[in-house]
Amino acid sequence: MKRIAVFTSGGDAQGMNAALRAVVRTGLERGLEVFAIYEGYSGMVEGGSRIKPMTWGDVGGILHLGGTIIGSARCKEFRERAGRLRAVHNLLLHEIEGLVVIGGDGSLTGADILKREWTGLVQELVETGRVSKNAAERAKSLAVVGIIGSIDNDMFGSDITTGADTALHRIIEATDAISSTAASHQRTFVVEVMGRHCGYLALMSAMASGADWVLIPESPPDVDDWESKMCEALLHGREVGRRDIMVIVAEGATDRNGKEITTEHVKKVLEDRLGEDARITVLGHVQRGGAPSAFDRNLSTMLGAEAIEAITSMDPNGEPLIVGMQGNKLTRTRLDVALAKTKAVADAVAAKNFDEALALRGQSFAESFRVVRTLVRALPHEPAPDQRRLRLAIVHGGGPAPGMNTAVRAAVRIGIDRGHTILGVRNAFRGLVNGEIEELNWMSVNGWAGRGGSELGTNRAVPKGRDLYAIARHLEEQKIDGILMVGGWSGYQSILELHGQRHNYPAFDIPMICLPATINNNLPGTELSVGADTALNSIVSAVDKIKQSAVASQRAFIVEVMGYYCGYLALMGALATGAERFYLHEAGVTMRDLVEDVEEFKHAFQHGKRLGLIIRNEKANEVYSTHFMRTLFEEEGGDLFDVREAILGHLQQGGTPSPFDRIFATRLAVRCIDFLEQAINNRESSGACIGQIQGDIRYTSLEDVPRQMDYQHSRPLKQWWMDLRPIARVLALPGPSMRGQGYRG
Ligand code: ADP
Repeated sequence: MKRIAVFTSGGDAQGMNAALRAVVRTGLERGLEVFAIYEGYSGMVEGGSRIKPMTWGDVGGILHLGGTIIGSARCKEFRERAGRLRAVHNLLLHEIEGLVVIGGDGSLTGADILKREWTGLVQELVETGRVSKNAAERAKSLAVVGIIGSIDNDMFGSDITTGADTALHRIIEATDAISSTAASHQRTFVVEVMGRHCGYLALMSAMASGADWVLIPESPPDVDDWESKMCEALLHGREVGRRDIMVIVAEGATDRNGKEITTEHVKKVLEDRLGEDARITVLGHVQRGGAPSAFDRNLSTMLGAEAIEAITSMDPNGEPLIVGMQGNKLTRTRLDVALAKTKAVADAVAAKNFDEALALRGQSFAESFRVVRTLVRALPHEPAPDQRRLRLAIVHGGGPAPGMNTAVRAAVRIGIDRGHTILGVRNAFRGLVNGEIEELNWMSVNGWAGRGGSELGTNRAVPKGRDLYAIARHLEEQKIDGILMVGGWSGYQSILELHGQRHNYPAFDIPMICLPATINNNLPGTELSVGADTALNSIVSAVDKIKQSAVASQRAFIVEVMGYYCGYLALMGALATGAERFYLHEAGVTMRDLVEDVEEFKHAFQHGKRLGLIIRNEKANEVYSTHFMRTLFEEEGGDLFDVREAILGHLQQGGTPSPFDRIFATRLAVRCIDFLEQAINNRESSGACIGQIQGDIRYTSLEDVPRQMDYQHSRPLKQWWMDLRPIARVLALPGPSMRGQGYRG
């Protein structure tokens, strides 16, 4: 294959630019000629100047832009065979052999149809004399690869689609803002979010915002008179002291009979029956706007690179594929299969088979729905008579991480709803030594879903020696049956210490579980930790601003990020901002690296580069410090460029948790309560850490932790994201053959 084309189509989604950049640059790097088709299928049907060759530089400086720089459109003509005939003609004129489609299910359906009709359409063009036999001979097949660009996350073929995470960011920014005004005036807000056939955004934003009621298409309220049920729940909420009330409605929400539920209707019900002062906010296109989140930039970048891998290795006669992501693994799915499964959900909803619709969405969607239904309750369920009532303690450990409060809120409510007593330990393990333990009730965690910092308090103290005796005494006094630790590496060490001493201290002979919460993402038994996504977004928005500050000068920035000895934030930050270089402790930094990089920067600035960006981990190398690097680059750069350093510091630990961190924290917390209940009921004193591994939530026994950790550097021995280094390097600086094509990051 020599020549491919890429286009964006249908509703725009943040991250489309990152995908485009990755497709173009990885394609060029592979020796392909890459064309962009402007304005989606319209451009394909029109042809001419709408189909243009792309250079390395053409897709520079676009990672942070929302929308799509090559335009998107809805095209009626392409829905007809005549339109597709013109499109094929144009593709043949440009000798395009492969297509990368970035769009939603409509756009991908269009591509699937085009592929199926390809031979017939080419033949028709030959028969009508518009295309020569020779040209047709060369165009026997068309390879098609799709990337799902859809803020609704409504398609099979990827756990999450390009744009959905950013849309959640926009929704959560709005709901956080609304919550504070609603609380001040004791108002009720009805918020409509996008999702005509898919309740993903509504459900996840309800989970992340701590909303009080949610209505989604896949699972309409289970009673006809749902209005009474909702009002009763909200009234209870007011009675127990909720100041702000929020109802989230997916735009495609219906009742059990398929009748649309509008925000107007919900507002009227609340006003008429509860006398509430209700306001409607329709978020609309705000959800498609703004800068893409760090997650969407990196997801789309990986998918773009994978699309090139797929298209260059697939049989051009073979079935079209979709590239997607499951957990952190890239996947390829047959496009027709993904489309059929997507349609099956819509069909199930249309046929009012709601249980089937929910089941088809997958286990984690259904589980999230159950969790949200519990969390929104004003009061817990009455415990079953045979329910064993446990006393569970929650403690933090390690530095603060956004999302800690979210995890505690979910654990408290789920635990209480199951009849248990939940005890909060103030000030981490130091507080456990001092007996700072208090009962947390349903309302004591109200409003914690989106609160940054750590309400219970956290620090890095690890108990030793006589501390253990004091802790054992408090655990016994409080009759604690199990412990949930939400925190980072020192929290894990503390739990390992208690668990390891259970033969000496009977009080420690109870189940304990660790929930990973640290911005560093350096913990065992999980590919991700709560807080890392928020920190990454803080880095990305800071670097976006730093880059903008340098518009008029030739300047290089050296940005230092946190992570302790773990380079996750540095590498993922580099990937999301298009940094030309990144330095990690894991990979080491040598003088030779620095000399090579200086030379590369000099060459680039000599040939038109105006802005350079280097991201380094705080402990990448103690001798070659950030300051040393700055002076080295400054001295060697001479008049070509000047250098500034930016140490981002604690802004990375602060801020309100991102939607991803809130959702992740909630899901993990629920499973931690499951673990403790099960272990206690089975009379085990097992210890575990919970985490996400290849898309699934799993438990790792504490016994396995020592084998997985590099204790000296407090990070796991194996870190999946290290495999992303080549992509980050390839995409940010042009290889030797493309140096004439511009240097924008
Ligand atoms: P999205 O891709 O975001 O789902 P649309 O459903 O509007 O957005 O589809 C975008 C474009 O894809 C349409 O304007 C049309 O050109 C093309 N398309 C959608 N469905 C089909 C179809 N069934 N057959 C041919 N082309 C289609």
